[in-house]
Amino acid sequence: MSRFTDKVVLVSGAGSGIGRATAKLFAAEGALVVAADLVEFASDVIAEFGDDPLMLPLDVRKREDWDRVAHAVMEKFGRLDVLVNVAGVNHDPTAPKIDPSLEDMSLDFLRNIFAVNIEGTVLGTQIGISLMRKSGGGAIVNVSSIAAHKGWPGRPPYGMSKAAVSQFSKSVAVRCAREDTNIRCNAVLPGPIATPMLVPLSGPAGKRGDGKSGADHVPMKRYGEPEEVGAAILFLASDDASYITGAELVIDGGLMAS
Ligand code: NAD
Repeated sequence: MSRFTDKVVLVSGAGSGIGRATAKLFAAEGALVVAADLVEFASDVIAEFGDDPLMLPLDVRKREDWDRVAHAVMEKFGRLDVLVNVAGVNHDPTAPKIDPSLEDMSLDFLRNIFAVNIEGTVLGTQIGISLMRKSGGGAIVNVSSIAAHKGWPGRPPYGMSKAAVSQFSKSVAVRCAREDTNIRCNAVLPGPIATPMLVPLSGPAGKRGDGKSGADHVPMKRYGEPEEVGAAILFLASDDASYITGAELVIDGGLMAS
């Protein structure tokens, strides 16, 4: 199946986890991949993204970085068809504690998470829309989380940021549809997925439902794999989802339903 032959697809946060798996799946379906991340790409990652991927450094918090990425995409490919805003953090790596108590949580802790998850998604979407308008349309998929809709006592800023991402995606969807841009915008809401992001929470040993790990409260008794989120992203980005915009697609082994 090659739903994305010669489509130009930009994935932020492509160096790890869900972004890496998603970029790989797009490449396998013929896409011209633009992979961007804050950290340098490992050589085994680059090899997964097709014959001639464009690999770019990007701090999603910085408008000038997005402008540079947009320029590079237009220079190499002359168009953008799909944008996937994957880059995200679930805690502030600069803070002394992963889960500070509510009373001790500083505004900097809150702002550092909001800057990546909210501002990064907004800046990326602005660039995505402006390039897609020139390309005659496209699809944007934002990576939210089930934390957008569930209380998470240990980490309120993360859930707040993802609620904003979900809301933003709907507003973008409606606006783009009303303005006849031929641009769709949707969000995916993963539950616990086995990526490096989960390690500080549950440790590598907690990957499978063993009676001791977080996976046991998932009805399917396992964490999802990044490719299972990637598959849903590809669906929403493809013509198979041509009448879907403003949707939130949950990928969580039944957690939200339980
Ligand atoms: P991950 O840590 O493996 O990957 C996140 C990637 O984002 C990394 O490559 C990192 O370098 C990049 N990144 C972080 N800050 C950045 C910045 N400022 N600019 C550019 N890139 C930056 O984690 P993951 O699990 O693959 O997470 C991907 C997305 O999925 C995130 O938005 C996360 O919130 C969301 N998500 C993950 C889970 C899960 O359980 N793993 C669940 C729900 C949602």
